[in-house]
Amino acid sequence: MYSRFQQFLKTELDSIREAGTYKDERVIVSPQYSEIHLDSGKEVLNFCANNYLGLSNHPALTEAAANALDERGYGMSSVRFICGTTDYHKELENKISKFFGTEDTILYAACFDANGGLFEPLLSSEDAIISDALNHASIIDGVRLSKAQRFRYANADMEDLEKQLIAAKDCRFRMIVTDGVFSMDGNVAPMDKIFALAEKYDAMVIIDESHSAGVVGRTGRGVTELFNCIGRAEVITGTLGKAFGGAIGGFTTGKKEIIEMLRQRSRPYLFSNSIPPLVAAAGVKAFSMIDETNELQDRLHENTEYFIKQMIDAGFDIKPTESAICAVMLYDAKLAGIMADRLLEEGIYVIGFSFPVVPRDQARIRVQISAAHTREHLDKAINAFIKIGKDLKVIQ
Ligand SMILES: *Cc1c(COP(=O)(O)O)cnc(C)c1O
Repeated sequence: MYSRFQQFLKTELDSIREAGTYKDERVIVSPQYSEIHLDSGKEVLNFCANNYLGLSNHPALTEAAANALDERGYGMSSVRFICGTTDYHKELENKISKFFGTEDTILYAACFDANGGLFEPLLSSEDAIISDALNHASIIDGVRLSKAQRFRYANADMEDLEKQLIAAKDCRFRMIVTDGVFSMDGNVAPMDKIFALAEKYDAMVIIDESHSAGVVGRTGRGVTELFNCIGRAEVITGTLGKAFGGAIGGFTTGKKEIIEMLRQRSRPYLFSNSIPPLVAAAGVKAFSMIDETNELQDRLHENTEYFIKQMIDAGFDIKPTESAICAVMLYDAKLAGIMADRLLEEGIYVIGFSFPVVPRDQARIRVQISAAHTREHLDKAINAFIKIGKDLKVIQ
């Protein structure tokens, strides 16, 4: 039986390779940071991690994790409601609520699970979910798992959102769901306008702050800070896997009855393991550090501004961005792959993104800036982009 299926898969895989969209994995043999070592022996500067605040290898977090490892051991061997909750899990949930100005928080093994388990327990076929077309895959899957009626609006397009709200006006409940920062372009959701429409059409607002929390807004509270609407969203989801240490874990934070219902009914919460205590402890430390000082956000914002200005001045086609994501547009998938490989040879680790991660003919290199990058790192990357960009005739 397998031989026919095997042939089918081999043909499919070949066509992925042919299209230039095959994804290889490079192996890192050092801690995750701005300077990393690959198994090839190469030392490179990392410009493709979600390590926005440089916390993935921060001594304060590794120390907190090591202490928790000593005090609480390695694994929980349980889901939360059976015997998978430690004091660290509860403390982290409280920290996250305080950070976002919300009422309560529930942890998940990942934000993919937070989004996957969000809609199904809350909404039924009488209800409507109105979702941005560029929302993260985990939101799309979460919406699919619910029985609610689905409405989709073009990315950050408020006219279209209003149209969809009108189309959904006879539904019992309406939820607008949007990423805070869209991960492939780096643009933000216009939260002021979204809240205005939500009010007009009696809809709730769900924001996924995975790429924006820790990053966007003066103190890193995300798009609700940027648009001066902290505490207004019914629900915020986010990840511990990006700015807040980059290990693993997700969360849903918001109105207390919603969180309470998720603890009773959300399937990835009820049927999947707790995050390890050491991850929860390091998470507590990350949120404490961000509470105490704005140093990391300030540096991240300065670095991002500098990098983008230099790249635009050099003639690159950069998507308008309000985050630490800088999409260098190349449009052609093969070119994006070749350029990323050439940049790696120059010691700059970036990745070409192509279909199905971005639409066809929208291939790009996505650069992610970190507070851990020094001015020297940024200059080295900019100079490498200019050199290879000229070689490949991307710029003049
Ligand atoms: C990264 C990301 C996720 C997934 O987060 P994990 O914790 O890694 O599962 C979900 N939503 C958005 C918008 C993301 O960028």
